[in-house]
Amino acid sequence: MADSNVLDAPRTVVVIGGGQAAGWIVRTLRKEGFDGRLVMIADEIHLPYERPPLSKAVLSGDADISTVRLVDHDAFASLVEAWQPECAASIDREARVVRTASGREVHYDRLVIATGGAARRLPDALVKTSHLAYLRTLDDAVALGTRMRESHGKRLLMIGGGWIGLEVAATARKLGVDVTVIEGASRLCARSVPEAVSAFLLRLHRDSGVDVRLNASLVSLDDHAGGVRAHLADGSTLDANFAVAGIGLNPHTALAEHAGLDVNDGIVVDEFGATSDACVFACGDVANHPNAWLKRRVRLESWANAQNQAIATARAVLGVRAPYAEIPWFWSDQFDVNLQILGDIAPGYTHVVRGDLEARRASLFFFDGDALRGVIAINAARDLKVAKKWMSQGRAVDLAALADTAKALA
Ligand SMILES: Cc1cc2nc3c(=O)[nH]c(=O)nc-3n(C[C@H](O)[C@H](O)[C@H](O)COP(=O)(O)OP(=O)(O)OC[C@H]3O[C@@H](n4cnc5c(N)ncnc54)[C@H](O)[C@@H]3O)c2cc1C
Repeated sequence: MADSNVLDAPRTVVVIGGGQAAGWIVRTLRKEGFDGRLVMIADEIHLPYERPPLSKAVLSGDADISTVRLVDHDAFASLVEAWQPECAASIDREARVVRTASGREVHYDRLVIATGGAARRLPDALVKTSHLAYLRTLDDAVALGTRMRESHGKRLLMIGGGWIGLEVAATARKLGVDVTVIEGASRLCARSVPEAVSAFLLRLHRDSGVDVRLNASLVSLDDHAGGVRAHLADGSTLDANFAVAGIGLNPHTALAEHAGLDVNDGIVVDEFGATSDACVFACGDVANHPNAWLKRRVRLESWANAQNQAIATARAVLGVRAPYAEIPWFWSDQFDVNLQILGDIAPGYTHVVRGDLEARRASLFFFDGDALRGVIAINAARDLKVAKKWMSQGRAVDLAALADTAKALA
């Protein structure tokens, strides 16, 4: 990785992207005293906002746009020259210039790429309907929420049984929409949780009236009777009034690739957010970083990473080198369940359950030998908070204390 520490202090910093990570870059640069020119090029019309409520309160109509904003409009205008909506089209690393789709150019001393990603789309050949939506942006959430609130008693086909799919399903049920979830794998959220938690999520959704079909591989999605008909690989069909696909994210790496930066499941950065070019940084969903806790490279898609990696990166842009070394943390809200995941949940680890999954209140502690490596907390945020302290301090865990649910962990 290039050493960004040997460069002169920047006079112009350009940020590409206008999401949570870009917002935190802007905020942190100014907080740390950067008083040079700061340009943010963002293709959405909205100022930086947080996406977690999009599948929850914004979708259900319980929160409006103002609650998701990361920054106040007037305050933000005083921090940054925002080019919006404007798409960065190319990076000339030799000349240190970013060019936009509308033909504008800006020179940079340091560039931060915080372009996030786009909802992965179903193959065109498979989709023969217009009643299909995706959920990534605020505009997506507002449009889908409006449709869902008009669909009481109608049926939604949710394609994908991952976090977005399950949150959309839960919100739809809350609005009185009937839901079928189809998932190609044999269990829910299989990439991030062990079998016991997949089974818990399956029970939670089925008990809440969601029709969950596992091992259900979509072959085509057609128009049918004013709605959609899904054809599955086993020959069966499913009808619904509309469909949403939540099948993952494609990181926006094309700009970086064309500029000749190292890209491998995201833009490859070091622990300071620096890419293979010392003047160019990346952070958030688009960046692939060496994670100190996981002891491997990873591209994280989480609120905490978007914020904290951006803060560390902004400091590194200014030459303040404090490595980004957070323990990965993610949460999801579905029905009356708040589920949080901290650290490493590797398949080979043993786990201890504290509490009762059936009662929807439990924590699963994951060990590599004696070392606590990760926690999944279900309506048990306090356990997770205490475990984070133990993990950060490398403290030995008292298994008897874990088993004793009558006593709070400390
Ligand atoms: C519906 C939903 C629910 C979520 N729920 C949770 C949750 O409960 N818990 C959790 O931990 N995380 C959750 N997340 C994940 C979290 O919101 C993301 O990790 C975070 O938003 C990533 O921020 P980012 O700034 O890196 O990327 P993004 O938010 O994707 O922002 C990138 C921005 O850059 C723009 N851009 C891209 N290319 C260009 C270009 N060439 N020129 C100009 N602009 C460009 C994009 O349009 C976008 O606006 C959720 C995400 C979604 C979508």
